[in-house]
Amino acid sequence: MLMCRDLARIASDYIDDELGTGQKLSVKMHLMMCKDCRSFIGNLRASTDLIRAHSSGKQDPELVRRIDEQVAQALSAKKKN
Ligand SMILES: [Zn+2]
Repeated sequence: MLMCRDLARIASDYIDDELGTGQKLSVKMHLMMCKDCRSFIGNLRASTDLIRAHSSGKQDPELVRRIDEQVAQALSAKKKN
């Protein structure tokens, strides 16, 4: 069973469609059951789209990674409460 922290780790690969079929299925199963991760993926996708739109083709992987980390941190901080 995929845990929330596992999902956070592979979320950007999921959005970029870089996961294998099995992993992708695990993510989808988890998203069906987990509201937190659904909003996590939604936020991550929104920020990824935003960055892509703004950088018009040339991506800044460092910026993308920093935003990924911030979203992951926000999610884990929320889990602790
Ligand atoms: Zn989850």
